[in-house]
Amino acid sequence: MQFSISTKKKIELVDITNQVEYAVERSGVKSGACVIYAPHATVAIVLNEFEPNLQQDFERVFEKILPNMDYTHDHIDNNARAHLLSGMVGSGRVIPVEDGKLTLGTWQRIIFCELDGPRSQRDIVVNVLKSQ
Ligand code: ZN
Repeated sequence: MQFSISTKKKIELVDITNQVEYAVERSGVKSGACVIYAPHATVAIVLNEFEPNLQQDFERVFEKILPNMDYTHDHIDNNARAHLLSGMVGSGRVIPVEDGKLTLGTWQRIIFCELDGPRSQRDIVVNVLKSQ
């Protein structure tokens, strides 16, 4: 299954848990693993609490974690930081599925991180694999 979202800011966190839960439900898989993956070079996916203050903290850290320097890639399209953050944080996650549900902790959500927005179409691929 695949779905798309659009983003409005340069760096923006979007809670995609409901869409992924829907994909798990639709798959009919009771026990297995859910792969969540974004096929883009300037996004990331994290599992964490989606609370407004923490959301802002993540966005601020993403803006400031990398040193201000002359990135070589910036000579091409000026988004080296977004590529580097995507590479470090990762653009995919795997969550075990049990009893037909994601085994997320009470406060855990699946969070899509836009690192080079705004963008009109960011794709997210969800594949639910059944245990043997
Ligand atoms: Zn680039």
